Amino acid sequence: MRIYLDHNATTPVREEVAAAMIRVLRDVPGNPSSVHAEGARARAELDTARERVAALLEVSPSEVVFTAGATEANNTALAAVAAARPDGRRHVVATAVEHPSVDTALDDLAARGHPVTRVPVGRGGRVDAAAVAGALRDDTALVSVIWANNETGVLQPVESIAELARARGAWMHSDATQAVGKHAIRPGRLPIDLLSLSAHKFGGPKGVGCLVVRGAIAVPPLLRGGPQEKRRRGGTENVAGIAGLGVACELARRELPERVARYARLRDRLWDGIAAKVPRVVRNGDPEHVLANTLNVTFCDTPGELLLQALDLGGIAASAGAACASGSIEPSHVLVAMGFSGADARATLRFSVGHDTDESSIDRVLALLPDLVARAREAGDA
Ligand code: PMP
Repeated sequence: MRIYLDHNATTPVREEVAAAMIRVLRDVPGNPSSVHAEGARARAELDTARERVAALLEVSPSEVVFTAGATEANNTALAAVAAARPDGRRHVVATAVEHPSVDTALDDLAARGHPVTRVPVGRGGRVDAAAVAGALRDDTALVSVIWANNETGVLQPVESIAELARARGAWMHSDATQAVGKHAIRPGRLPIDLLSLSAHKFGGPKGVGCLVVRGAIAVPPLLRGGPQEKRRRGGTENVAGIAGLGVACELARRELPERVARYARLRDRLWDGIAAKVPRVVRNGDPEHVLANTLNVTFCDTPGELLLQALDLGGIAASAGAACASGSIEPSHVLVAMGFSGADARATLRFSVGHDTDESSIDRVLALLPDLVARAREAGDA
């Protein structure tokens, strides 16, 4: 039995989600845009899912725009929405630890002449809300802040930043992909204008997510075509995937407090064991403000890629920094932004627990890890 500790990369689909998707694939053949009964049935699936997403986030169903995941949602928020403020504001503010789907969109905006400010983070991976306030200008169009970082799990002070952005007339976007379903967030109660999420990070299928767009903000579609999603996103909807996203949101709404407590217990068991059994380890990221499921650890003077391969051979899946960066020898930009040397960044691993993790899997990791670290360190010295 393999032990999967890479839930921040993606999660196994929950049984309830798979069942709903199979039902839709088998029994709901219509196109949601068709006016006949088959179309209405497919539309009803979208409506139910939209209500479930909205209930979890405490927003209005009409504010949910389904996308093919968080990359598309982030690209839409930055490249389409922020670039088209009716009042002509063009300046964009973000942190130095955004996901590549935000970072590259920021680079594109900069290339199109938008001034972009990236606010640095401290050693704990958190941005200071006052520093974001200091970066705001009269022409700031949008502030984009990742709610929880995919590599470190560090939570940003999104609530305070949203208030500051609103006070200056800037729109607030948060990439909440890692927070949704793993942390109690209530964006509907905050002055947040745009929010991205992805189903596959909390028990839903890959390739589906949404952008939440609050109030009267116009969304120029990134994908242009038909009038789907109230003309905010062209293309026939992924009905089964969206139904799966809806069920994942419903499960999250019901299970969240228990889920967070259980993840934190497992994560702490893992860290306590590592700290007790493995010499020269450092836990990274502000432990007061971190996702319950994420543990980011530097195994000093250890080639991280080697350790990762040894774990894989031992039946354990973990990750070095972001999944998208694995196989690359570039140190993680998130750890570099936190002040890590290249060597320390390369000696750093991420463990992320989830629905299928239990105490015995953590104990098995702890039984193997000390020896694997010692051997990787020896190989690194050779
Ligand atoms: N933002 C964050 C914080 C993520 O972790 C990810 C997934 N790695 C994404 C965006 C992109 O999501 P998707 O895979 O749905 O495109």
